[in-house]
Amino acid sequence: MATIDGLPPLREVIAAHGLVAKKQLGQNFLLDLNLTAKIARAAGDLAGADVLEVGPGPGGLTRGLLAEGARRVLAVEKDARCLPALAEIAAAYPGRLEVVQGDALEVDAAARLTAPVKVVANLPYNVGTELLIRWLTPPVWPPFWQSLTLMFQKEVAERIVARPGSDAYGRLALLAQWRCDAKIVMVLPPEAFTPAPKVHSAVVHLVARAEPRYPADARVLERVVGMAFNQRRKMLRSALKALGPGIEAQLQAAGIAPTQRAEEIGLEQFCALARVVAQGG
Ligand code: SAM
Repeated sequence: MATIDGLPPLREVIAAHGLVAKKQLGQNFLLDLNLTAKIARAAGDLAGADVLEVGPGPGGLTRGLLAEGARRVLAVEKDARCLPALAEIAAAYPGRLEVVQGDALEVDAAARLTAPVKVVANLPYNVGTELLIRWLTPPVWPPFWQSLTLMFQKEVAERIVARPGSDAYGRLALLAQWRCDAKIVMVLPPEAFTPAPKVHSAVVHLVARAEPRYPADARVLERVVGMAFNQRRKMLRSALKALGPGIEAQLQAAGIAPTQRAEEIGLEQFCALARVVAQGG
């Protein structure tokens, strides 16, 4: 059967290269090229952008990104078995696909990309959250990327866009929403993947803001939020005790009652607290 890009259907690619999915690599493949094109479109206009894709696998999303007009795709894949299939895609799109074999946690992708950069990936579940946290907490802001369009387990996606008061609200929501606009743009049932995972998945689209939503020092905010949610059911005066004896006064100076719990506190108040703590007030 013909495909939009003239390359073989993904089931044939997987059979031809013996790509039996490995659970320990988080391999749940997308085989529907209409769906991968839709995910690529969720990243916005790709024509003038370099795209970083983590975990291309047999290349379904990679093909979507190239067919949707990405200027260039840098794909980082840990599993060497996928390289021949990806080489076929590179040959069909001369000069537009570079594949790096390695662990995305170790490869310095930013150094190989030219702005503007969009990150688009169906992430392996075992490293997805760690990669997101790294992308959200770079040494300087704005980061190397303009937007992140990422597939996660739905439960993780909900943590990224969560609001105060919900069980999903925590460190990930605050880190994401402080300097990005974040929304869930697609929800996918397990059957969309081969093999089907146990849970639903969702695509989150995050756009980096030029400036944070509220001023705060990034390291101080990360520390305060990390400590607060480490013991999310405790009153903040206890959860943040390690910040020093002045914590009750600091909470009050930030407009937070020391008896409140982390999950009740919004982003603006956490930023106010980070400013008070940074001043040592
Ligand atoms: N993009 C493909 C798709 O949508 O069908 C595959 C997605 S699959 C959920 C995750 C991919 O990430 C697999 O191909 C897996 O081999 C790869 N992977 C797992 N851990 C990785 C790591 N640390 N660095 C780079 N790739 C990794």
